[in-house]
Amino acid sequence: MPSESVSPTEPLVVAPPPDSVELLYRDLEAKIREYRPKDDLAPLETAFRFARQWHEGQMRDSGEPYMVHPIKVTQILADMRMDLVAMETGLLHDVVEDTSVTTDQIRKEFGEDVARCVDGVTKLSKLDFYSAEDRQAESFRKMLLAMVEDIRVIMVKLADRMHNMRTLGFLSPERRERIARETIEIYAPIAHRLGMGKIRGELEDLAFQYLEPDAYREIVAAMESRRHSNEEFLAEIKQIVANELLGEGIPARMDARIKRPYSVFQKLRRQKIAMDQVYDLMALRIITDSVKNCYAALGVIHNRWRPIPGRIKDFIAIPRPNLYQSLHTSVVGPHGQTFEVQIRTEEMHRIAEEGIAAHWKYKEGRKGPAADDQRIAWLRHLVEWQRDMQDPGEFMSTLKVDLYPEEVYTFTPRGKVIVLPREATPIDFAYAIHSDVGNTCIGAKVNGRIVPLRSSLRNGDVVEIMTQPGHQPSKDWLAFVKTARARNKIKHLINASERAKAIEIGEKYLDKEARRLGFQFSRVTKSDLDEVASDYGYSKMEDLYAALGYGKFSARQVLSKLAPETIKDEPEESKPAASAETAAAPMPGRPADGDAVIKVSGMDDLLVYRAKCCNPIRGEAIVGYVTRGKGVAVHSRMCHNVQSLMYDVERKIEVEWARSTADAFPVRIVVHTDDRPGMLNQLTSVLSDENTNIRSLEAKTELEQDGALVEMTVDVRDKKQLEKLVAAMRRISGVRDVERLLN
Ligand code: MN
Repeated sequence: MPSESVSPTEPLVVAPPPDSVELLYRDLEAKIREYRPKDDLAPLETAFRFARQWHEGQMRDSGEPYMVHPIKVTQILADMRMDLVAMETGLLHDVVEDTSVTTDQIRKEFGEDVARCVDGVTKLSKLDFYSAEDRQAESFRKMLLAMVEDIRVIMVKLADRMHNMRTLGFLSPERRERIARETIEIYAPIAHRLGMGKIRGELEDLAFQYLEPDAYREIVAAMESRRHSNEEFLAEIKQIVANELLGEGIPARMDARIKRPYSVFQKLRRQKIAMDQVYDLMALRIITDSVKNCYAALGVIHNRWRPIPGRIKDFIAIPRPNLYQSLHTSVVGPHGQTFEVQIRTEEMHRIAEEGIAAHWKYKEGRKGPAADDQRIAWLRHLVEWQRDMQDPGEFMSTLKVDLYPEEVYTFTPRGKVIVLPREATPIDFAYAIHSDVGNTCIGAKVNGRIVPLRSSLRNGDVVEIMTQPGHQPSKDWLAFVKTARARNKIKHLINASERAKAIEIGEKYLDKEARRLGFQFSRVTKSDLDEVASDYGYSKMEDLYAALGYGKFSARQVLSKLAPETIKDEPEESKPAASAETAAAPMPGRPADGDAVIKVSGMDDLLVYRAKCCNPIRGEAIVGYVTRGKGVAVHSRMCHNVQSLMYDVERKIEVEWARSTADAFPVRIVVHTDDRPGMLNQLTSVLSDENTNIRSLEAKTELEQDGALVEMTVDVRDKKQLEKLVAAMRRISGVRDVERLLN
């Protein structure tokens, strides 16, 4: 046998008896040859050699060479009449998971399609439903399906699961239980969704046997005891029906089936009935040539035996979501025995047994059944596309699917599935867990790596949210969150804290203005205040404070309502010149009452922000101004705008820097220098000596003055640091001037 492809990293092991595995592969090849007589199976053989070489020395729990498993999986795929890509994937499906082979290597050796499928199967293998925190089977199934880019990945995964279930007996009871549970809750329903009745049935019965061994034994024994009479009965009926149909000229073949153990179990449990009350324990299947004859056959059956009311189901007119079509009826047969009759066409039968896999086998001249379930519209599309296409290669290219294009399935670190809309961000994830987690979110890790909070999550991402007690959501988040839940929670919190701030500002604003006008606040009662509030249409004073803080009214207006005789609504003394002088003059020290001061932190706070015109920094003398609707603008007292703003002197409010050292203020600086080499280096080294972060820096030549101009934005902590920095730059020889740009 060829051994030329042995790679240098291949582990050195003693070869197991080669013949059993080799023979098994030859069987597989022969099976495929039957239905693909002309296909070139060389790529399949290459995949076999490759997988065998890498799995060399590995054993199954059954004691067989590991390679037996991929071959048996591929046998199942061959029974499903899958294409070569799927079968190559079947042979290679465990190499990335269980050996050192990478997906890139697979791509190089076997091409893009096989690499994508192997990668898909490997990803699914890493999902562990059993260890998930709360096992939400429905979400887990959807997530699993959502992670599938190529429908063949599911086929291979189902075949893999099928073989593992068939050999489950070799595992420890604990692992058996785990795998059986996952099979019955995840994989069998997926096979069902895809209309693969046969695979679903076998998976369920195998799992049932391990999960409910007593019930399984009981049901099988009960069925066994009836088997002989049931078989006789079905043979009798078959004969009668065959004659009747022949008499009516309806072509048909018949197939009798006895209900599967798990299906019986479910029915007994769900309906709390005894075995003898199961109407459809025995069923006769009539498979005919056309829809018309399906209904004709139904007429024949009802003519002969009395139908049980409410048991006639027309899944031809209204197919099941998984495209299953058939007519069902239950009748009272000879000797008073009830049984079910299922009537369908050949094509319906094929789809019932094989589901989506049926589409691989018969590619031409089929009519797709109609289905109106939105959730699996994709399957219908697949059938429709297939009908329109002559080239099988073209059909395969549509197997890349996006089953749930509107959703993204993510995990918490403990395995809980969180379903979010597409493009959702870690913030949405955080709010989906709990609003406190969202509110205090300061960062996120996706698959162990820190990501920006605005990044989009992808299927299968494990998301970990970092929180900090007391942290507040940012207004910026509203620009990128995708869920209504996150949006509402953020808005709610921002509104609440904005309002709290507005109330604080409003109270201080009113207090300050009262003092300025010599108004005795202490004489005002709570009911006076509430009365004024109601004059403005508010139910409590708090609301009026908030309105004042937002700048909706001026404090003077409110005061004039409290004391109309002493305070006029229109400030008469606010002649521009006079008031500007008094207002803009730097205040010596603190105002009389420290409570009337609004604290300014470095970070721009909601409703208290540093004015763009002068961009004041900590340490500078500042003054606040209650704007109309935007809160308090904080200006430097040196700002030229302050002069004109203070015409409206009553809107001025005292502010001071809050004690905090962490924040940095961006400041723009222009340096005029001689135009000589090395100047930039000297400037930047001064900045780094002062531990100053440079945000941007740009140098230009100033032709007229025969010099250069360096413009930069640097982060400083306060006025002191800025002064030190400017002084240091001025000491550099060749520096002519240093200027701070105020806007
Ligand atoms: Mn496997």
